[in-house]
Amino acid sequence: MITETSELIREESPLLKIRTYFDALQKTVPRTYVFVADLKDNVVLLSDNFVSDFQFPSNVVDDFKSRLMSVVHYDDIERFEEGIKKNFVKGTGDGDHDFEYRFCLPSGEYVWMSCHGSIGRNENGEPNIWSGMIVRMDLILNADGVTGLLNRHSFDEALQKELKSSPDSHGAVIVIGLDNFHIINETYGHQFGDIALKQIAQNITDVLPPDIRLYKFDGYMFGLFMPYGMPEEIEIIFSSVQLCMREIRNVEDTIYCTASAGAAFYPTDASDDVTLLRYAEVALEIARQKGRDQISFFSKETYDRWRYDIGMMNLMQNSIARGCEDFFLCYQPQVDAKDGHLIGAEALLRWYDKDGSVVAPMQFIPMLEKSRMIIPVGHWIIENAVSTAKKWQEYMPDFQMSINISLYQLEEHMFFPFVQDCIERHQIDPTTITFELTESQSVYDWEYVNKQFSNFHELGIQIAMDDFGTGYSSLGFLKNFECNIIKIDRVFVQDILKSDFDRNLVKYTIKLCHSIGMKVCIEGVEEEKAYIFLRDECKADYIQGFFFGYPEMEDVFLRRLKK
Ligand code: C2E
Ligand code: CA
Ligand code: CA
Repeated sequence: MITETSELIREESPLLKIRTYFDALQKTVPRTYVFVADLKDNVVLLSDNFVSDFQFPSNVVDDFKSRLMSVVHYDDIERFEEGIKKNFVKGTGDGDHDFEYRFCLPSGEYVWMSCHGSIGRNENGEPNIWSGMIVRMDLILNADGVTGLLNRHSFDEALQKELKSSPDSHGAVIVIGLDNFHIINETYGHQFGDIALKQIAQNITDVLPPDIRLYKFDGYMFGLFMPYGMPEEIEIIFSSVQLCMREIRNVEDTIYCTASAGAAFYPTDASDDVTLLRYAEVALEIARQKGRDQISFFSKETYDRWRYDIGMMNLMQNSIARGCEDFFLCYQPQVDAKDGHLIGAEALLRWYDKDGSVVAPMQFIPMLEKSRMIIPVGHWIIENAVSTAKKWQEYMPDFQMSINISLYQLEEHMFFPFVQDCIERHQIDPTTITFELTESQSVYDWEYVNKQFSNFHELGIQIAMDDFGTGYSSLGFLKNFECNIIKIDRVFVQDILKSDFDRNLVKYTIKLCHSIGMKVCIEGVEEEKAYIFLRDECKADYIQGFFFGYPEMEDVFLRRLKK
């Protein structure tokens, strides 16, 4: 605020007369720097925003030229100096002065400035003032070229203003991301993509309350904030957004495009604009991870888990780069149900966290699968499990090693040749290896996976269907895929002594499997009574469970074999 009088301004200076106007003017042109120079005294009046953005000592300076020269980009100095000399020093410019230069912000960042100036003359026609505006290009380009919506910068400004508006302001920050929009661009071309984006922007704007503004962020994202916004209301608005996404079409078809969203609330989640936006973006990321086409609200617990997962992903990536250094295998005994004698083991993956604690596979395998890191780790598992089986067969020649394979691994084209090579290198009898297929979310190419199955059968490797009765591992699966063994999930075993249903289910599933020539392994057997029932009543073939042994370290398991 220019209130203090400066000694640099003489009483008869034109600057003194216009000062009140200047002060009023600078408030009406946001994001623009305003200046007026007294050409006689070389004194310049600068707007407050210039003083604070460029850390000038005061609104009134008498060394304007040298100060400005120190912030102008080296390559623009010559042009700039010429303009200054003509207008400011000599006042001989033709009046208008319209140029673009790069200025250096105190942060070191260069920004383009557009300067518009004009020379004013006194009653004798002599140049006496030079006034003008300097506009930061990055700040005025605040509309998105395609949708016409205000951009992220304007959003930041508006949100900051809203948060400052009252000490107890509350509401929500929402980020909407279009899922897979790049596919629309790739399929129908960018021209159509732009039209669709515009249409989407319009549709979303239409479903928002009239006083809520939609902003366009980079990529295929939109942002908005809703003072007083509550979760229920936001959910309703998001349902309307989902509906309007279904209306995107070109001449021939309706285009399938969905949106996901994330929301964070102020002041509960955070009270500053930067954190709020980050949290809303995290919530969006989580909505996408959950399968898209949905909204997720920020929660500290989910955020902490998400950060933990990201940290773990990085650590695992490093582990893998160092040859799967922090991974190791445990082995859990599998026994013959008839007499309980050892027939082999299942290799179970473990990972050492950075503090040396052991992490269970359910915590990290889904991550390895999603990131496809399961491919290199899967190779490492097979390599190690096969080599261990070969060593142990010295003590027990028909030792069976069961190795878990996720369906993602089967989709990899180098998987079969790798297995073939591994079997050959270790000179192991392939019939002593069983691949347990664990459940997987989605398989894109069933035909290819089926082909892999028959390759393994031909090689002599046995296939077990894991976790039978849960998720994708079901009767339907049995019909389409040839397996040697099915493993009944432990959820059916844990209550087997209490539940008639579970007892019958296990009993008749085993009967069914036997009738089509399959063996059955029962997981999760923890008590003798359950074992006896499974052996005598159900005629199970193999048993795996804590009653016969926990997953053990390699050296511990070896002691079992040496007994
Ligand atoms: P899974 O293949 O069903 O493995 C059996 C899981 O049941 C193991 O848990 C084992 O410790 C546990 N278990 C065995 N007997 C009992 C019992 O009597 N009672 C109870 N309560 N639990 C028992 P773990 O090691 O935590 O493995 C969990 C899952 O992680 C595995 O389920 C498998 O789906 C996956 N997994 C483990 N290792 C690998 C691997 O090397 N590759 C892949 N792709 N997945 C793996
Ligand atoms: Ca398994
Ligand atoms: Ca299982």
